[in-house]
Amino acid sequence: MDFRYTPEQEALRKEFGDFFREEMRDCPPEMGASMESLFEIDVCWEFHKQLGKKLAAKGWIAMAWPKEYGGRDAPLIEQFIFNEVRGYHKAMGVDPIGVGMLAPTLLVSANDEQKREHLPVMARAERDWCQLWSEPNAGSDLACLTTRAVRDGDDYIVNGQKIWTSGAHRADWGFMLARTNPEEKRSRGLSFFLVDMKTPGITVKPLHSMAKGHMFNEVFLDDVRVPVRNRVGEENQGWVASQMTSNFERSMIDLFSHAKRGLEELVQFCKEAKWGGEPLAKNPIVRHKLAQLAIETEAGLAYSHSVVWNQLKGGIITAAPLAAAAKFLATELTQRLNYTGCEIMGLYGQVRESRWAPMMGKYQNYYQLVMGLNMGGGTSEIMRNLVASMGLGLPRSW
Ligand SMILES: Cc1cc2nc3c(=O)[nH]c(=O)nc-3n(C[C@H](O)[C@H](O)[C@H](O)COP(=O)(O)OP(=O)(O)OC[C@H]3O[C@@H](n4cnc5c(N)ncnc54)[C@H](O)[C@@H]3O)c2cc1C
Repeated sequence: MDFRYTPEQEALRKEFGDFFREEMRDCPPEMGASMESLFEIDVCWEFHKQLGKKLAAKGWIAMAWPKEYGGRDAPLIEQFIFNEVRGYHKAMGVDPIGVGMLAPTLLVSANDEQKREHLPVMARAERDWCQLWSEPNAGSDLACLTTRAVRDGDDYIVNGQKIWTSGAHRADWGFMLARTNPEEKRSRGLSFFLVDMKTPGITVKPLHSMAKGHMFNEVFLDDVRVPVRNRVGEENQGWVASQMTSNFERSMIDLFSHAKRGLEELVQFCKEAKWGGEPLAKNPIVRHKLAQLAIETEAGLAYSHSVVWNQLKGGIITAAPLAAAAKFLATELTQRLNYTGCEIMGLYGQVRESRWAPMMGKYQNYYQLVMGLNMGGGTSEIMRNLVASMGLGLPRSW
Protein backbone atom coordinates (compact mmCIF):
# COMPACT_ATOMS: atom_id res chain seq x y z
CA MET A 1 0.00 0.00 0.00
CA ASP A 2 1.01 3.59 -0.61
CA PHE A 3 0.90 5.87 2.44
CA ARG A 4 1.45 9.08 0.48
CA TYR A 5 -1.39 11.45 -0.28
CA THR A 6 -1.77 12.81 -3.81
CA PRO A 7 -0.96 16.53 -4.37
CA GLU A 8 -4.74 17.25 -4.39
CA GLN A 9 -5.20 15.39 -1.11
CA GLU A 10 -2.22 17.25 0.41
CA ALA A 11 -3.82 20.54 -0.66
CA LEU A 12 -7.07 19.52 1.00
CA ARG A 13 -5.19 18.53 4.13
CA LYS A 14 -3.58 21.96 4.24
CA GLU A 15 -6.94 23.66 3.74
CA PHE A 16 -8.43 21.71 6.67
CA GLY A 17 -5.37 22.47 8.82
CA ASP A 18 -5.47 26.22 8.09
CA PHE A 19 -9.18 26.30 8.89
CA PHE A 20 -8.91 24.48 12.23
CA ARG A 21 -5.78 26.39 13.31
CA GLU A 22 -7.69 29.64 12.86
CA GLU A 23 -10.98 28.48 14.37
CA MET A 24 -9.47 26.77 17.41
CA ARG A 25 -7.95 30.08 18.55
CA ASP A 26 -11.43 30.93 19.87
CA CYS A 27 -11.95 27.58 21.58
CA PRO A 28 -13.04 28.15 25.20
CA PRO A 29 -10.23 27.12 27.60
CA GLU A 30 -12.77 25.01 29.53
CA MET A 31 -13.03 22.64 26.56
CA GLY A 32 -9.73 20.84 27.19
CA ALA A 33 -9.80 17.70 25.09
CA SER A 34 -12.70 16.18 26.82
CA MET A 35 -16.08 15.02 25.59
CA GLU A 36 -17.33 15.65 29.11
CA SER A 37 -16.73 19.41 28.87
CA LEU A 38 -18.40 19.45 25.48
CA PHE A 39 -21.60 17.95 26.83
CA GLU A 40 -21.50 19.67 30.21
CA ILE A 41 -20.40 23.28 29.80
CA ASP A 42 -22.70 25.62 27.88
CA VAL A 43 -19.93 27.73 26.29
CA CYS A 44 -18.24 24.55 25.04
CA TRP A 45 -21.48 23.22 23.59
CA GLU A 46 -22.16 26.58 21.94
CA PHE A 47 -18.63 26.65 20.44
CA HIS A 48 -19.13 23.11 19.12
CA LYS A 49 -22.46 24.08 17.53
CA GLN A 50 -21.03 27.23 15.90
CA LEU A 51 -18.04 25.30 14.57
CA GLY A 52 -20.45 22.66 13.25
CA LYS A 53 -22.33 25.33 11.28
CA LYS A 54 -19.08 26.56 9.70
CA LEU A 55 -18.05 23.02 8.78
CA ALA A 56 -21.49 22.39 7.32
CA ALA A 57 -21.28 25.57 5.24
CA LYS A 58 -18.03 24.25 3.77
CA GLY A 59 -19.67 20.88 3.07
CA TRP A 60 -17.09 19.03 5.20
CA ILE A 61 -19.28 17.19 7.70
CA ALA A 62 -20.58 14.60 5.31
CA MET A 63 -18.19 14.69 2.37
CA ALA A 64 -18.39 10.99 1.54
CA TRP A 65 -22.21 10.75 1.66
CA PRO A 66 -24.24 10.78 -1.56
CA LYS A 67 -25.26 14.25 -2.78
CA GLU A 68 -28.96 13.44 -2.52
CA TYR A 69 -28.56 13.00 1.26
CA GLY A 70 -26.54 16.14 1.94
CA GLY A 71 -23.06 14.86 1.07
CA ARG A 72 -20.62 15.58 -1.76
CA ASP A 73 -19.99 12.07 -3.11
CA ALA A 74 -16.34 12.58 -2.16
CA PRO A 75 -14.00 9.57 -1.89
CA LEU A 76 -13.82 8.02 1.60
CA ILE A 77 -10.14 8.94 1.80
CA GLU A 78 -11.06 12.65 1.88
CA GLN A 79 -13.32 12.09 4.88
CA PHE A 80 -10.45 10.17 6.47
CA ILE A 81 -8.06 13.10 5.90
CA PHE A 82 -10.62 15.47 7.38
CA ASN A 83 -10.93 13.28 10.50
CA GLU A 84 -7.16 13.07 10.77
CA VAL A 85 -6.73 16.84 10.70
CA ARG A 86 -9.71 17.51 12.97
CA GLY A 87 -8.35 15.00 15.50
CA TYR A 88 -4.92 16.63 15.46
CA HIS A 89 -6.44 20.03 16.23
CA LYS A 90 -8.60 18.49 18.98
CA ALA A 91 -11.57 20.12 17.31
CA MET A 92 -15.22 19.22 17.86
CA GLY A 93 -17.92 20.51 15.49
CA VAL A 94 -19.07 17.09 14.25
CA ASP A 95 -21.67 15.08 16.17
CA PRO A 96 -19.63 11.95 17.00
CA ILE A 97 -22.74 9.89 17.61
CA GLY A 98 -25.06 10.98 14.80
CA VAL A 99 -22.53 11.60 12.05
CA GLY A 100 -19.92 9.14 13.30
CA MET A 101 -22.11 6.17 14.20
CA LEU A 102 -25.69 6.47 13.04
CA ALA A 103 -25.30 8.02 9.58
CA PRO A 104 -23.33 5.12 8.04
CA THR A 105 -25.94 2.73 9.44
CA LEU A 106 -28.74 4.75 7.87
CA LEU A 107 -26.91 4.85 4.54
CA VAL A 108 -26.80 1.05 4.52
CA SER A 109 -29.99 0.01 6.32
CA ALA A 110 -32.60 2.83 6.26
CA ASN A 111 -35.30 3.39 3.66
CA ASP A 112 -35.24 6.40 1.36
CA GLU A 113 -37.75 8.39 3.44
CA GLN A 114 -35.67 7.92 6.61
CA LYS A 115 -32.47 8.90 4.81
CA ARG A 116 -34.08 12.07 3.44
CA GLU A 117 -35.53 12.97 6.82
CA HIS A 118 -32.37 12.55 8.89
CA LEU A 119 -29.17 12.70 6.82
CA PRO A 120 -29.37 16.22 5.31
CA VAL A 121 -30.16 17.76 8.74
CA MET A 122 -27.13 15.97 10.18
CA ALA A 123 -24.96 17.23 7.31
CA ARG A 124 -26.13 20.76 8.19
CA ALA A 125 -25.18 20.17 11.87
CA GLU A 126 -28.74 20.86 12.94
CA ARG A 127 -29.61 17.63 14.77
CA ASP A 128 -27.71 15.91 17.59
CA TRP A 129 -28.09 12.27 18.50
CA CYS A 130 -27.54 9.90 21.39
CA GLN A 131 -27.12 6.12 21.41
CA LEU A 132 -29.78 4.30 23.44
CA TRP A 133 -28.27 0.83 23.61
CA SER A 134 -26.69 -0.08 26.97
CA GLU A 135 -28.91 -1.07 29.87
CA PRO A 136 -28.15 -1.76 33.54
CA ASN A 137 -27.89 -5.49 32.72
CA ALA A 138 -26.81 -5.34 29.08
CA GLY A 139 -23.46 -3.83 28.10
CA SER A 140 -20.94 -6.12 26.41
CA ASP A 141 -23.67 -8.72 26.19
CA LEU A 142 -26.01 -6.25 24.51
CA ALA A 143 -28.15 -8.93 22.88
CA CYS A 144 -29.79 -9.72 26.24
CA LEU A 145 -31.31 -6.23 26.59
CA THR A 146 -34.87 -6.07 27.91
CA THR A 147 -36.33 -2.67 26.89
CA ARG A 148 -39.60 -3.70 25.30
CA ALA A 149 -41.33 -2.28 22.19
CA VAL A 150 -44.90 -3.51 21.66
CA ARG A 151 -46.75 -2.83 18.39
CA ASP A 152 -49.94 -0.76 18.78
CA GLY A 153 -51.42 0.26 15.41
CA ASP A 154 -49.04 2.67 13.66
CA ASP A 155 -46.85 2.99 16.76
CA TYR A 156 -44.74 0.92 19.09
CA ILE A 157 -45.10 1.52 22.83
CA VAL A 158 -41.69 1.40 24.48
CA ASN A 159 -40.91 0.70 28.15
CA GLY A 160 -37.51 0.21 29.74
CA GLN A 161 -34.30 1.85 30.90
CA LYS A 162 -31.06 2.80 29.17
CA ILE A 163 -27.81 3.77 30.86
CA TRP A 164 -24.45 5.45 30.09
CA THR A 165 -26.19 7.43 27.35
CA SER A 166 -23.57 10.01 26.35
CA GLY A 167 -25.02 13.44 25.67
CA ALA A 168 -28.69 12.42 26.04
CA HIS A 169 -29.33 15.75 27.78
CA ARG A 170 -28.16 17.61 24.63
CA ALA A 171 -29.58 15.24 22.02
CA ASP A 172 -32.57 15.98 19.80
CA TRP A 173 -32.98 12.34 18.74
CA GLY A 174 -31.75 8.93 19.88
CA PHE A 175 -31.23 5.63 18.11
CA MET A 176 -32.40 2.72 20.16
CA LEU A 177 -32.37 -1.05 20.28
CA ALA A 178 -35.48 -2.59 21.86
CA ARG A 179 -36.95 -6.07 22.10
CA THR A 180 -39.89 -6.66 19.78
CA ASN A 181 -39.99 -10.43 20.21
CA PRO A 182 -40.01 -11.49 23.88
CA GLU A 183 -39.94 -15.18 22.92
CA GLU A 184 -36.49 -14.69 21.49
CA LYS A 185 -34.08 -13.81 24.30
CA ARG A 186 -31.06 -12.97 22.13
CA SER A 187 -30.31 -10.77 19.11
CA ARG A 188 -33.00 -12.15 16.80
CA GLY A 189 -35.77 -10.47 18.83
CA LEU A 190 -34.42 -6.90 18.59
CA SER A 191 -35.46 -3.93 16.42
CA PHE A 192 -33.66 -0.66 15.67
CA PHE A 193 -35.62 2.59 16.21
CA LEU A 194 -35.13 6.33 15.76
CA VAL A 195 -36.67 8.20 18.68
CA ASP A 196 -37.45 11.90 19.05
CA MET A 197 -36.10 12.72 22.52
CA LYS A 198 -38.97 15.18 23.09
CA THR A 199 -41.53 12.36 22.96
CA PRO A 200 -43.68 12.23 26.13
CA GLY A 201 -42.57 9.47 28.53
CA ILE A 202 -38.80 10.01 28.12
CA THR A 203 -36.95 11.08 31.28
CA VAL A 204 -33.23 11.89 31.18
CA LYS A 205 -31.30 11.86 34.48
CA PRO A 206 -27.61 12.82 34.82
CA LEU A 207 -24.88 10.37 35.88
CA HIS A 208 -21.70 12.15 36.99
CA SER A 209 -18.33 10.55 36.26
CA MET A 210 -15.36 10.39 38.63
CA ALA A 211 -13.92 13.42 36.79
CA LYS A 212 -17.11 15.14 38.03
CA GLY A 213 -18.36 15.93 34.55
CA HIS A 214 -21.81 15.36 33.12
CA MET A 215 -21.64 13.37 29.92
CA PHE A 216 -23.49 10.19 30.91
CA ASN A 217 -27.20 9.83 31.59
CA GLU A 218 -29.81 7.32 32.51
CA VAL A 219 -32.78 7.40 30.16
CA PHE A 220 -36.14 6.08 31.36
CA LEU A 221 -38.78 5.15 28.80
CA ASP A 222 -42.36 4.96 30.09
CA ASP A 223 -45.05 4.21 27.50
CA VAL A 224 -43.11 6.11 24.83
CA ARG A 225 -44.88 6.06 21.46
CA VAL A 226 -42.51 5.54 18.52
CA PRO A 227 -44.08 5.56 15.04
CA VAL A 228 -43.59 2.36 13.01
CA ARG A 229 -42.07 4.49 10.23
CA ASN A 230 -39.15 5.21 12.62
CA ARG A 231 -38.11 1.55 12.69
CA VAL A 232 -34.93 1.01 10.65
CA GLY A 233 -35.03 -2.29 8.78
CA GLU A 234 -37.43 -5.14 9.41
CA GLU A 235 -38.96 -5.97 12.78
CA ASN A 236 -36.66 -8.25 14.82
CA GLN A 237 -33.76 -7.55 12.41
CA GLY A 238 -32.30 -4.61 14.36
CA TRP A 239 -29.16 -6.49 15.35
CA VAL A 240 -27.87 -6.55 11.78
CA ALA A 241 -28.18 -2.75 11.52
CA SER A 242 -26.59 -2.30 14.95
CA GLN A 243 -23.53 -4.30 13.89
CA MET A 244 -23.06 -1.92 10.99
CA THR A 245 -23.05 0.97 13.48
CA SER A 246 -20.35 -0.75 15.51
CA ASN A 247 -18.15 -1.48 12.52
CA PHE A 248 -18.22 2.09 11.28
CA GLU A 249 -17.21 3.45 14.64
CA ARG A 250 -13.65 2.20 14.49
CA SER A 251 -11.20 3.59 11.95
CA MET A 252 -9.78 5.70 14.83
CA ILE A 253 -7.60 8.05 12.79
CA ASP A 254 -8.92 11.02 14.77
CA LEU A 255 -7.81 9.48 18.08
CA PHE A 256 -4.35 8.48 16.81
CA SER A 257 -3.95 11.99 15.42
CA HIS A 258 -5.17 13.47 18.70
CA ALA A 259 -2.53 11.37 20.51
CA LYS A 260 0.17 12.68 18.17
CA ARG A 261 -0.72 16.25 19.11
CA GLY A 262 -0.84 15.34 22.82
CA LEU A 263 2.61 13.79 22.56
CA GLU A 264 4.02 16.88 20.85
CA GLU A 265 2.71 19.01 23.73
CA LEU A 266 4.22 16.65 26.29
CA VAL A 267 7.60 16.69 24.53
CA GLN A 268 7.52 20.49 24.50
CA PHE A 269 6.74 20.53 28.22
CA CYS A 270 9.71 18.22 28.92
CA LYS A 271 12.03 20.48 26.95
CA GLU A 272 11.00 23.51 29.00
CA ALA A 273 10.38 22.15 32.52
CA LYS A 274 13.30 21.52 34.88
CA TRP A 275 13.84 18.86 37.50
CA GLY A 276 16.86 19.15 39.83
CA GLY A 277 18.15 22.05 37.71
CA GLU A 278 18.16 20.00 34.50
CA PRO A 279 15.49 19.95 31.76
CA LEU A 280 13.19 16.96 32.14
CA ALA A 281 14.09 16.11 28.56
CA LYS A 282 17.55 15.04 29.78
CA ASN A 283 16.16 12.49 32.21
CA PRO A 284 16.77 9.03 30.66
CA ILE A 285 13.55 7.53 32.04
CA VAL A 286 11.46 10.39 30.67
CA ARG A 287 13.24 10.21 27.31
CA HIS A 288 12.60 6.48 26.98
CA LYS A 289 8.94 6.84 27.88
CA LEU A 290 8.49 9.59 25.28
CA ALA A 291 10.38 7.60 22.66
CA GLN A 292 8.19 4.56 23.31
CA LEU A 293 5.03 6.67 22.95
CA ALA A 294 6.35 8.22 19.73
CA ILE A 295 6.93 4.76 18.23
CA GLU A 296 3.47 3.57 19.25
CA THR A 297 1.83 6.73 17.89
CA GLU A 298 3.52 6.46 14.50
CA ALA A 299 2.73 2.74 14.31
CA GLY A 300 -0.89 3.54 15.22
CA LEU A 301 -1.20 6.20 12.52
CA ALA A 302 0.21 3.81 9.93
CA TYR A 303 -2.13 1.07 11.12
CA SER A 304 -5.11 3.40 10.86
CA HIS A 305 -4.16 4.15 7.24
CA SER A 306 -4.07 0.43 6.54
CA VAL A 307 -7.57 0.03 8.02
CA VAL A 308 -9.04 2.65 5.72
CA TRP A 309 -7.09 1.21 2.79
CA ASN A 310 -8.62 -2.20 3.52
CA GLN A 311 -12.06 -0.62 3.83
CA LEU A 312 -11.59 1.01 0.43
CA LYS A 313 -10.44 -2.26 -1.15
CA GLY A 314 -12.55 -4.85 0.61
CA GLY A 315 -15.46 -3.03 2.21
CA ILE A 316 -16.44 -2.22 5.75
CA ILE A 317 -17.33 -5.76 6.75
CA THR A 318 -14.05 -7.25 5.51
CA ALA A 319 -12.17 -4.62 7.50
CA ALA A 320 -14.21 -5.14 10.70
CA PRO A 321 -11.57 -7.15 12.64
CA LEU A 322 -8.88 -4.64 11.62
CA ALA A 323 -11.11 -1.79 12.79
CA ALA A 324 -11.74 -3.60 16.09
CA ALA A 325 -7.98 -3.79 16.59
CA ALA A 326 -7.67 -0.07 15.79
CA LYS A 327 -10.23 0.64 18.53
CA PHE A 328 -8.23 -0.93 21.32
CA LEU A 329 -4.85 0.20 19.94
CA ALA A 330 -5.97 3.85 19.78
CA THR A 331 -7.80 3.97 23.10
CA GLU A 332 -5.08 2.11 25.01
CA LEU A 333 -2.38 4.31 23.45
CA THR A 334 -4.31 7.41 24.55
CA GLN A 335 -4.52 5.99 28.06
CA ARG A 336 -0.77 5.24 28.18
CA LEU A 337 0.00 8.73 26.89
CA ASN A 338 -2.08 10.40 29.57
CA TYR A 339 -0.93 8.12 32.39
CA THR A 340 2.69 8.83 31.35
CA GLY A 341 1.94 12.56 31.20
CA CYS A 342 0.64 12.44 34.74
CA GLU A 343 3.70 10.49 35.92
CA ILE A 344 6.09 12.95 34.27
CA MET A 345 4.34 15.91 35.93
CA GLY A 346 5.19 14.39 39.32
CA LEU A 347 3.31 15.27 42.50
CA TYR A 348 2.16 18.65 41.19
CA GLY A 349 0.62 16.82 38.25
CA GLN A 350 -2.18 15.79 40.57
CA VAL A 351 -3.15 19.38 41.36
CA ARG A 352 -6.05 20.82 39.41
CA GLU A 353 -6.89 24.50 39.78
CA SER A 354 -3.64 25.99 41.07
CA ARG A 355 -0.77 28.07 39.76
CA TRP A 356 1.44 25.14 40.76
CA ALA A 357 -0.35 22.73 38.44
CA PRO A 358 1.81 22.06 35.34
CA MET A 359 -0.01 22.52 32.01
CA MET A 360 -2.96 23.95 33.99
CA GLY A 361 -3.58 20.57 35.61
CA LYS A 362 -4.94 19.03 32.46
CA TYR A 363 -3.10 15.73 32.81
CA GLN A 364 -4.74 14.77 36.09
CA ASN A 365 -8.07 15.58 34.44
CA TYR A 366 -7.22 13.52 31.34
CA TYR A 367 -6.04 10.68 33.58
CA GLN A 368 -9.56 10.31 34.91
CA LEU A 369 -11.32 10.98 31.64
CA VAL A 370 -9.48 8.46 29.50
CA MET A 371 -10.28 5.58 31.88
CA GLY A 372 -13.57 5.00 30.06
CA LEU A 373 -12.18 5.25 26.53
CA ASN A 374 -11.55 1.55 26.16
CA MET A 375 -15.09 0.73 27.36
CA GLY A 376 -17.36 3.05 25.34
CA GLY A 377 -18.36 1.54 21.99
CA GLY A 378 -17.24 -1.93 23.12
CA THR A 379 -14.51 -2.81 25.62
CA SER A 380 -10.95 -3.81 24.75
CA GLU A 381 -11.75 -7.41 25.74
CA ILE A 382 -14.71 -7.51 23.36
CA MET A 383 -12.58 -6.00 20.58
CA ARG A 384 -9.93 -8.67 21.17
CA ASN A 385 -12.69 -11.30 21.04
CA LEU A 386 -13.71 -9.91 17.62
CA VAL A 387 -10.15 -10.04 16.33
CA ALA A 388 -9.84 -13.62 17.58
CA SER A 389 -13.11 -14.83 16.06
CA MET A 390 -13.49 -12.74 12.88
CA GLY A 391 -9.81 -12.09 12.20
CA LEU A 392 -8.19 -15.38 13.23
CA GLY A 393 -11.17 -17.67 12.69
CA LEU A 394 -11.06 -18.98 16.27
CA PRO A 395 -14.29 -20.36 17.74
CA ARG A 396 -16.44 -17.95 19.79
CA SER A 397 -15.79 -18.25 23.51
CA TRP A 398 -19.09 -16.74 24.69
C1 LIG B 1 -17.01 6.69 27.74
C2 LIG B 1 -18.22 5.80 27.55
C3 LIG B 1 -19.24 6.22 26.73
C4 LIG B 1 -20.38 5.42 26.57
N1 LIG B 1 -21.43 5.88 25.82
C5 LIG B 1 -22.51 5.10 25.64
C6 LIG B 1 -23.62 5.58 24.87
O1 LIG B 1 -23.65 6.73 24.41
N2 LIG B 1 -24.69 4.77 24.69
C7 LIG B 1 -24.72 3.50 25.19
O2 LIG B 1 -25.69 2.79 24.94
N3 LIG B 1 -23.69 3.02 25.97
C8 LIG B 1 -22.60 3.80 26.20
N4 LIG B 1 -21.57 3.35 26.99
C9 LIG B 1 -21.68 2.04 27.63
C10 LIG B 1 -20.73 1.02 27.00
O3 LIG B 1 -21.18 0.62 25.73
C11 LIG B 1 -20.62 -0.15 27.98
O4 LIG B 1 -19.99 0.34 29.15
C12 LIG B 1 -19.81 -1.28 27.42
O5 LIG B 1 -20.47 -1.91 26.36
C13 LIG B 1 -19.50 -2.34 28.51
O6 LIG B 1 -20.66 -2.73 29.16
P1 LIG B 1 -20.76 -2.73 30.76
O7 LIG B 1 -20.34 -1.38 31.25
O8 LIG B 1 -22.11 -3.20 31.13
O9 LIG B 1 -19.65 -3.74 31.25
P2 LIG B 1 -19.76 -5.33 31.21
O10 LIG B 1 -20.30 -5.77 29.91
O11 LIG B 1 -20.46 -5.78 32.45
O12 LIG B 1 -18.23 -5.75 31.27
C14 LIG B 1 -17.49 -5.78 32.50
C15 LIG B 1 -16.11 -6.31 32.18
O13 LIG B 1 -16.20 -7.67 31.70
C16 LIG B 1 -15.55 -7.79 30.44
N5 LIG B 1 -16.27 -8.74 29.59
C17 LIG B 1 -17.60 -8.78 29.37
N6 LIG B 1 -17.91 -9.77 28.50
C18 LIG B 1 -16.74 -10.35 28.14
C19 LIG B 1 -16.39 -11.42 27.27
N7 LIG B 1 -17.30 -12.09 26.57
N8 LIG B 1 -15.08 -11.74 27.14
C20 LIG B 1 -14.13 -11.06 27.84
N9 LIG B 1 -14.40 -10.05 28.69
C21 LIG B 1 -15.69 -9.69 28.85
C22 LIG B 1 -15.60 -6.39 29.84
O14 LIG B 1 -14.58 -6.21 28.88
C23 LIG B 1 -15.40 -5.52 31.08
O15 LIG B 1 -14.04 -5.40 31.38
C24 LIG B 1 -20.46 4.16 27.21
C25 LIG B 1 -19.41 3.76 28.06
C26 LIG B 1 -18.32 4.57 28.24
C27 LIG B 1 -17.24 4.11 29.19
